[in-house]
Amino acid sequence: MATTWHVLGAGSLGTLWATRLARAGVPVRLILRDAARLKAYEAAGGLTLVEHGQARQYPVPAETPDNPAPIQRLLVACKAYDAEQAVAQLASRLAPGAELILLQNGLGSQDAVAAVVAQARCIHASSTEGAFRDGDWRVVFAGHGFTWLGDASHPVAPIWLDDLKDAGIPHEWSTDILTRLWRKLALNCAINPLTVLHDCRNGGLQEHHCEVAILCGELTELLERCGQPAAAQDLQQEVERVIHATAANYSSMYQDVNNRRRTEISYLLGYACKVATRHQLNLPHLNQLQQRLIVRLQSLGLPSD
Ligand code: NAP
Repeated sequence: MATTWHVLGAGSLGTLWATRLARAGVPVRLILRDAARLKAYEAAGGLTLVEHGQARQYPVPAETPDNPAPIQRLLVACKAYDAEQAVAQLASRLAPGAELILLQNGLGSQDAVAAVVAQARCIHASSTEGAFRDGDWRVVFAGHGFTWLGDASHPVAPIWLDDLKDAGIPHEWSTDILTRLWRKLALNCAINPLTVLHDCRNGGLQEHHCEVAILCGELTELLERCGQPAAAQDLQQEVERVIHATAANYSSMYQDVNNRRRTEISYLLGYACKVATRHQLNLPHLNQLQQRLIVRLQSLGLPSD
């Protein structure tokens, strides 16, 4: 019998994965926060995915964390700051040989999760797919992209990648997933905080070329010190390319701040600064950027961690 995908968190990415797996006939179950969220979900009748302007509802079964059934495969689709606690409450349900797929952006949350489920295999993911919620239990598939998956401690690909193929989730097994995550983190650090501080779209950073270049220099130093030279290669050129190619877009951090939502700063810029300190690396502009961002978040009444 096919293994069930438990999906922890029915937000943007959780819904994007759950609905595509379910419509391919793969068994999926959602794990929602508590009985109140489960009741609200059941009243809604399922998850709605809006794709190419067309909305379709999928009645994916759901449960609460205290359901006793064992979990073999868990897709963790919470924000980075919720992942550790959300997984910890499921630790006793994990079957021997259980696998977790971690969709969180940035770095730091994956290690925190792995520490609470030492017996399970943790697979990291880095995705360029884009989705947002436009209502409760309703998600718009906004940007088609790609997902890389990998396990830094075990290079063999799991057989369930076939489920992703059947579900039409574009993906590839990566043997250098940490390099990909570091590269994405560095791009994020060079672009997203500045879009918040300068209150601009990505393209607005073309007017702050020097500031971006200095940050890229410090980020390159950090990546090299962390043993990630491949992630450091031509970083500034790629940052400039991304700024140009996504000039009309608002960064994810900008959108979080604009919508008065908590950001994932601790797993992005905050993580970079923490690791630099650990390596006794003096990166004054990166630290200053973090301080400026914290002050801005606090002035808006948003969490700064
Ligand atoms: P999201 O829309 O905010 O969804 C997070 C979900 O997690 C929410 O539904 C939330 O429940 C749920 N959750 C939190 N704690 C929980 C718990 N203890 N038990 C059960 N459910 C819990 O977030 P997202 O945009 O999908 O982002 C998830 C991760 O993917 C982030 O790290 C993000 O950076 C990354 N990512 C997102 C995108 C994207 O396009 N959205 C793209 C690439 C990467 P409630 O509904 O009850 O609040």
